[in-house]
Amino acid sequence: MRIKFIGGTMSVTGSCHLITTDKYKILLDCGMYQGSKALEELNRASLGFDASEIDFMLLSHSHIDHSGRIPILVKQGYKGKIYCTDATADLVEVMLKDSGYIQEKEAEWFNRKAERSGSPLIEPLYTVKDATESIKHLEPVLYNQVFEINPDVHVRFKDAGHILGSSIIELWIREGEKITRLVYSGDIGVKNKPLLKDPEIVTEADYLIMETTYGDRVHEPNEESLEKFIDIILKTTRRGGTVVIPSFAVGRTQELIYELNMYYEHHEEFKEELDNIMVYVDSPLATSATEIFQRNAQVFDEEARQCILKGDNPLDFKNLVFTRTVEESIQLNFDTTPKVIISASGMCEAGRIKHHLKHNLWNPKSSIVFVGYQAEGTLGRSIINGDKDVSIFGEKIHINAEIYNLEGFSGHADKEGLLEWLSAFQKPPKRIFLVHGEEDSKKNFAATVKQVLGYDCTVIEDVSEFNLDDDVMLSVEDVHNRIATEEQLLKVRNKLAQIHEEMGSIFYNTHLAVDSGTTIKSVNEINNIILELEKQAIQLGTAVTKLK
Ligand SMILES: [Zn+2]
Repeated sequence: MRIKFIGGTMSVTGSCHLITTDKYKILLDCGMYQGSKALEELNRASLGFDASEIDFMLLSHSHIDHSGRIPILVKQGYKGKIYCTDATADLVEVMLKDSGYIQEKEAEWFNRKAERSGSPLIEPLYTVKDATESIKHLEPVLYNQVFEINPDVHVRFKDAGHILGSSIIELWIREGEKITRLVYSGDIGVKNKPLLKDPEIVTEADYLIMETTYGDRVHEPNEESLEKFIDIILKTTRRGGTVVIPSFAVGRTQELIYELNMYYEHHEEFKEELDNIMVYVDSPLATSATEIFQRNAQVFDEEARQCILKGDNPLDFKNLVFTRTVEESIQLNFDTTPKVIISASGMCEAGRIKHHLKHNLWNPKSSIVFVGYQAEGTLGRSIINGDKDVSIFGEKIHINAEIYNLEGFSGHADKEGLLEWLSAFQKPPKRIFLVHGEEDSKKNFAATVKQVLGYDCTVIEDVSEFNLDDDVMLSVEDVHNRIATEEQLLKVRNKLAQIHEEMGSIFYNTHLAVDSGTTIKSVNEINNIILELEKQAIQLGTAVTKLK
């Protein structure tokens, strides 16, 4: 059996791993790259495998960096099912359609510019229609049930406590007489988070693929971040400013609403003051996602369910307003009343948040509060890093607002949380592969695991493939140097034969064009074509000799 680590290897985004057994090809997640422009360009590159050869896919959770390339997978010929939990299926539907819409808009915007400059136009990465088509492949399953995908593969989803519907995936794979137990951590959440249950533990695995987003960080406790958060809201609004919170539309936003609900409805000390502060959720995706959360209350944690039993909707309170239209969104920036705006995208790269940042970053009365991970190369990261000037919609903005980063709200376990989760294994897995983290984070976590638990970890640093049977990492070069399969050779031969035929008819027709009635102008053109062909043929000839 082999595992190919395709995405989420060099950074935290683009999660995608391919398991190849003696009979099947199984895909774990198919995420989009997010962050810098160079990273996002990778979304247009090849998937790293032939989509039509994949037998089935398992999806850990709905976040776009784990699900965002599903429409491409389907567009490229994937025919199988995509197994995930109920809540993930609900959420991924709105997220992929939203992503398709963003892709269409970005392509439109790019092409308007390209038309003016005469450069080539692009197709959207995928459309809302592609996203809608891909959703048909989703196959919802229940948490904690071992189910048979086929006689050789059994799977169980456990609650990862990271976002509604998120899961840790356990696989039992039979090859001949041998059964291999493989665990994919997905993204591991934080204990005692609002709405969500704590991440479940797993006690056994032969092989483990584990995330390390915060493998080198320790978060402050959630309660501390919450106190600071309320403090920032009061302080900012007292001086007449607005609190802008870039937040992931799905997950983090609902957790913030839940926490604010508790303060607005149950906190006597500030109740009167808070009564005058409106909270706007300005993201259509966040609004749709909140409705899905309300429909999936069965997977909430005990505290949230108690709240519902008492007749309190934990995701709603009097001062909360969901804005839908663009006009309502624009209106927020003309209204100078102190308020709280929660908007997406979480890393400030797209969406309505950019407008709110443009209108508030310059203002010393306002505050910007980060509540989630900011990848390298994003506008969010540059603001957190303390950059004094940023560019938004081509306009230079000087930062005067107060900037806060509350890591206690993070949806990812920190170093201690990850270590605690890993220590639940009764004996060390044969291999622990670290993915989904920046380089320092993975390396530091590997060192900590060695020091505390005595286990060795394999840090995945690039696209690479591991052969479990021989216990060797095939380096990227090895992967490329492996003998191509008959199938791959056949495809190449067919293509060559096709081109051969096409070229033949081009030469034949060119011959026919040369007859007694040909004008000097045509002869010159034909000569030019021949010269060009000769030049290309010589270059190609040299390239082909190198291949042999
Ligand atoms: Zn996630």
